[in-house]
Amino acid sequence: MILRIRPIRRAAHALRIRTEDRTNCQFDKFHVTRGRKSQDVSRGELTKSELAKVKRFEKSYTAAVNKLMSDPSAEAGISVPQILGGQSTGRTDSFTVSGGYVGSALISRTFTADFASKQGQALANTDSSSNTTTVYSTSLSGGGHVQLQHNGPLFGGDYSRQITVVHEGIHGTGNEARGLTDTLLLGYHPLDMDHQIPYNSAAATLLGP
Ligand SMILES: [Zn+2]
Repeated sequence: MILRIRPIRRAAHALRIRTEDRTNCQFDKFHVTRGRKSQDVSRGELTKSELAKVKRFEKSYTAAVNKLMSDPSAEAGISVPQILGGQSTGRTDSFTVSGGYVGSALISRTFTADFASKQGQALANTDSSSNTTTVYSTSLSGGGHVQLQHNGPLFGGDYSRQITVVHEGIHGTGNEARGLTDTLLLGYHPLDMDHQIPYNSAAATLLGP
């Protein structure tokens, strides 16, 4: 009996790895509030509720990366207002990204779950110098919504999280750095809103239907 059960278990395990666990994306760092202080903690020190939110986001993060890597040659173009020295020049900057390139960037990215910082409705932010993407409380708590076109509908839930992940994956890539006149200012107030829709819609294109 035992001799027959073992090979069956092994086969089931191998199948699971091939179909579901091709890439398993997890947060690397956690920032939380304890009492009146905000502090970094390990995964094991998260509360039950925090861990549930972390796991829910990781599921979307993993699904997004696996979608990108399943069609690595898919491409999306991005056009944003050209910014020079903090001012719009009236022209546009354009560049192209591929699913495989963004997926690889996301796999090597340090992801921080930040429950503590007050960021209003901001969903996430990427610091290319430290190769870190920080996901804020709004998105972790399930309240994050994204828009793919001006005056278009808002998307929430898992799709919003996947768009957010891929949007942040495009930030910090070499294509972005080469494509933008003034990379460092993009994504920061008052220019923040200018890039949301083009980045979100490029993310939707890369994720596919
Ligand atoms: Zn952005």
